[in-house]
Amino acid sequence: MSAAHDPRWRAETLAVRAGYDPASASNAAKPPIYMTSTFAYASARQAKDIHEAYFEGTGPEVGRPGHIYARLGHPGLDMVELRLAALDGAEAAAVFNSGMATHSAIALAHLRPGDSVVFSRPIYGGTNGLYTGMMPGFGVGHAEFTDGCDRSSVEAAVTEALAHGPLKLIVIETPANPTAAIVDIALVVDIADTVGARSGTRPLVVVDNTLLGPSMQRPIELGADLCMTSLTKYCGGHSDLMAGGVSGREALVAPLRLLRTTLGSHLDPYTSWLLLRSMETVHLRVERAMDNARKVAEFLRESPKIAGITYLGFLAEGTPQRAVYDRQCKAAGSTFSFAVTGGEAEAFRFLDRLRLLRFAVSLGGSETLITHPATTTHYAISSEERAAGGITPATLRLSVGIEHVDDLIADLAQALEAL
Ligand SMILES: *Cc1c(COP(=O)(O)O)cnc(C)c1O
Repeated sequence: MSAAHDPRWRAETLAVRAGYDPASASNAAKPPIYMTSTFAYASARQAKDIHEAYFEGTGPEVGRPGHIYARLGHPGLDMVELRLAALDGAEAAAVFNSGMATHSAIALAHLRPGDSVVFSRPIYGGTNGLYTGMMPGFGVGHAEFTDGCDRSSVEAAVTEALAHGPLKLIVIETPANPTAAIVDIALVVDIADTVGARSGTRPLVVVDNTLLGPSMQRPIELGADLCMTSLTKYCGGHSDLMAGGVSGREALVAPLRLLRTTLGSHLDPYTSWLLLRSMETVHLRVERAMDNARKVAEFLRESPKIAGITYLGFLAEGTPQRAVYDRQCKAAGSTFSFAVTGGEAEAFRFLDRLRLLRFAVSLGGSETLITHPATTTHYAISSEERAAGGITPATLRLSVGIEHVDDLIADLAQALEAL
């Protein structure tokens, strides 16, 4: 029986099977945890060959399981990376100890002083900090666009960035956290191709796929160069670990993996094992959470105490956003925002009445989480920037979990009575 997975298997099968070969570990049916920081060499010759394979990508040890030191790579990480690449439909993947470690590695690998980057807004706070707070200190310029379904909006940002210097990365988050704003991946890829043909430098298109995850959106198939995912969210799925990953062509992923040597941002053996286990059930969890989310969204939409809702399944027919959604998303996911009628006082009263829903940041866990973005996740940005991103004092973000939906709706209903 072969260890290798059949790439024609469907994602649900790959999630269970890809990445682990029992023959590599005494035929243990499930992967062991390799709790070791260092690896013994069989001979001096093999040590040299393993280093050549790691640093040069050449020689007899390429493609063999040899390891050096856990920070550079270890068997648990290999398994998680193979599984993530299979789920994303990509050639290769690199996994890090958080989503932000992944974003940082992408920036540090591909940007040099004088370069520029374009990103979509709204964007995750950490990513915003990376490109507007940290990278400018290294001489990297940036420009932003807000309407990711409109060619001229994206092109204007590209022109602005090119005025600063060579455009190396276009980073898009779609759907965006917390407003579910959509960016047309194929449109951005087309614009990147045009920039490449005109300037001789083709920017890489990086998609942050966290909000839908690998089971509901496959950016690599839509032409993205790198698909980044905070594995802390749906893939981890139980709000008990942190990890991040990026997939794409081996030639683009290999330099990112190598950066772990310098940044020390590898995922440790135990967390790799936990993540590998979680990935087996990601489809089941996501499907149940999405069923629940649709029913919760329908309940909220009917309530006179709700002023608005951003659930993707409610995107109006005939709009550009709807057309892009139909083309690039398999389903609406289970994270969305809604606004209660009133302002902060009403939002707070509602939150403090909830008994089942947990008030916490993060998303994609088995339990339903709710946050008040204006005073938590988006606390540090100005109220003008919040308003531009569609976040008001009455906005609440909901990440629907896998509890019984009737219990969720009952809790929301009793809390709405406080308004
Ligand atoms: C959470 C999140 C991140 C960062 O991931 P961490 O694992 O928390 O570092 C990046 N992008 C999006 C959209 C996120 O929701």
